[in-house]
Amino acid sequence: MKALGRHILVEFNSCNSEILNDVSAIEKAMVEAAQTAGATVINSTFHHFSPWGVSGVVVIQESHLAIHTWPEYRYASVDLFTCGDSVDPWVSFEFLKKAFQANYSALELNRGSLSVIEKTDFKPNTIRTEPSFDLKKGYQIDRNVWFTDKDENQALSLRYTGDVLFDEKTPYQRVRVLESFSHGKFLAINNMVMCTERDEAHYHEMMVHPIMQSLGDAKNILVIGGGDGGTIREIFRYDHVNKVTMVEIDEAVVRASKEHLPKISAAFSHPKLELIIGDGIQFVKDAKPGAYDLIIVDGSDPIGPAKGLFTTEFYENCKKALKDGGAVITQGESPMFHETTFVELNKCLKGIFGKDQVHTMIFHATTYPSGMWSLQIGVKGSRHPAVDFDKNKAQAFSSAKGLRYYNEDLHAAAFALPTFVKSMLAENKN
Ligand code: SAM
Repeated sequence: MKALGRHILVEFNSCNSEILNDVSAIEKAMVEAAQTAGATVINSTFHHFSPWGVSGVVVIQESHLAIHTWPEYRYASVDLFTCGDSVDPWVSFEFLKKAFQANYSALELNRGSLSVIEKTDFKPNTIRTEPSFDLKKGYQIDRNVWFTDKDENQALSLRYTGDVLFDEKTPYQRVRVLESFSHGKFLAINNMVMCTERDEAHYHEMMVHPIMQSLGDAKNILVIGGGDGGTIREIFRYDHVNKVTMVEIDEAVVRASKEHLPKISAAFSHPKLELIIGDGIQFVKDAKPGAYDLIIVDGSDPIGPAKGLFTTEFYENCKKALKDGGAVITQGESPMFHETTFVELNKCLKGIFGKDQVHTMIFHATTYPSGMWSLQIGVKGSRHPAVDFDKNKAQAFSSAKGLRYYNEDLHAAAFALPTFVKSMLAENKN
């Protein structure tokens, strides 16, 4: 052996930009490139940058493989570094060349040339007696791949296994199911967390129970969006419901949830459900006046197909489609994330339903950026959902149904807004 290490510096160009911006695909390719060359992978750490680009390293027993990508240049710089003779880094190079569909230039350097450096009788103060892992006992590669939901200033990251359980680009969005270490499996649309197995009840229970407990006997309910199924699951806890019409624009979301999130998607086979794959905005526009007791808008952030779910026209149509005394509730974004949308939506609802007929709840959405999320309600009548409900009934219901978040005390408390939120919304006088 002439040198301690072999270092191949690789310039991959004309790569597939989408691959270079896909942290899961990059991590998987780098780990497999090492394993294909016979290296022993110890751990991997990969990060997805804002607005794009990935950086990561795979630590192997024989040293490391590292990468940084510039999708906008279709370029990736890769370092393949091995020590000893057991692993040929060119095998990893060949693997990555195919994985990134790349053209390349590459240069091998000998690192630590033994004609230059000499071994010393180094006696360390501390010697590692136990290896950090025991090959014979087998071990789990410690994979640090992060899914990050962010805007330009704030982010929420979940470490996940690196494996992609479901990944489809549909005409509307990218739908994925990934498995996190802290929150179980989660549904992501584009780079946004929609729901995780661990905390989805926060959102779905607060979306349904405060308004259902207040309305008391809503029978005919329209759900816009809600493709994961968590909202209809909560609605069907009420026996007095006659029919739920759910209009979800993207069948892939329903399919992904049915395949990978059984607890959340459990109610899709309910006999009182009519599931329509279509645009909820158009559906509400064409809806019969006064048809519904309750409309639940369980849509994603105001981009792509969900943009129209934050407009005056949409909520005017919702009001028309409601019975007198009925209500619409919608995910209202956050006073700490997308504040402008939060305030604008409130103003829009007040313009349509009247200032005193709009009520806002805040709840803990622990996997949405900022962790603080809102639900906004417009009532076609004088009912005040924070006070017009039977506390004992709500208590009995939440314990009988084993609810994990909603209870009779939280019902009222959720409408008690922090002072800064009150002042944010105070200007919205019509
Ligand atoms: N809890 C999530 C949130 O707050 O971001 C929402 C979850 S749910 C999965 C959002 C659903 O709304 C998605 O399945 C999306 O496809 C659907 N959606 C978006 N725009 C829609 C539209 N115009 N009509 C019907 N469904 C729509």
